[in-house]
Amino acid sequence: MTVRPAPRVLAVATAALLTLGGAAACSDGGGGSDPGRVDVVAAFYPLQFLAERIGGDAVTVTNLVKPGAEPHDLELNPRQVGQVSDAGLVVYLAGFQPAVDEAVEQNAGGRAFDVAGVQPLRDAAEGGHQHEGESGHEEESGGKDPHVWLDPTRLATIGDRLAERLGKADPDHAADYTARAKTLHAELARLDADLAQGLKTCQRREIVTSHTAFGYLAARYQLEQVGITGLSPEAEPSPQRLAEVATEAREHDATTIFFETLVSPKVAETVAREVGAKTAVLDPIEGPPAEGDYLSAMRTNLQTLRTALDCS
Ligand SMILES: [Zn+2]
Repeated sequence: MTVRPAPRVLAVATAALLTLGGAAACSDGGGGSDPGRVDVVAAFYPLQFLAERIGGDAVTVTNLVKPGAEPHDLELNPRQVGQVSDAGLVVYLAGFQPAVDEAVEQNAGGRAFDVAGVQPLRDAAEGGHQHEGESGHEEESGGKDPHVWLDPTRLATIGDRLAERLGKADPDHAADYTARAKTLHAELARLDADLAQGLKTCQRREIVTSHTAFGYLAARYQLEQVGITGLSPEAEPSPQRLAEVATEAREHDATTIFFETLVSPKVAETVAREVGAKTAVLDPIEGPPAEGDYLSAMRTNLQTLRTALDCS
């Protein structure tokens, strides 16, 4: 039997909003301040990027993840639960952040857009580099790899569907949403073409990564990902797993071990030392890049990969 605590959660959220007051809520970027715009709540950065590009000036977008925070297993405070309840549209990826799934289920029923439903997700085990003991996130998400935004063509399709969904929520601006999605689709198609071209001829095709976030990128551009910690970046790899990865890295003559921006490089550095390789940042773009946006961060990733894999 499931007891739904929805009324209590709502009451807490309302109390929190009253305590904050209008001015505080505004300066906090809480949204809901402009009645002429659709309030869109995005569950993490790539979805914020999509909503801002496609929504333009017809929407106000709030990202549930604070800059610098890691979006896996995000916890929501009562104010954020209130934002989900009050949103005109919640854009999220079911299975990626259980707290968001729960808030949507309880308080945002018909006002949510699940990007995981646009195209079937990859199985976490695809690619042949799933290892025993590499548990964690994939179990919660039903064995699916959530990092779908790292394939620009999939993100473009998600953008097209988001434009349709926004157009239903706000029919007056439907044509604008469609037009902006089309522009973004073209930019993502160019990015895809550049990635395909830039990664066509490389000396090596294996990427050893701290967090197994690059399955979609690897699948799209025929790379092979060797993940150290699994799909969830906080998982602590066993000494045995580290030794296995070091062996694989040596077998593939990897010269670079990749780590990412939001998580400590310690694990990648350990493996790199072990095999005498360098480390470099490959951004899974789970949070906003330090500068630029999704598109420029992907282009930086392309240059990093070209250098590490010796692509000519
Ligand atoms: Zn991740």
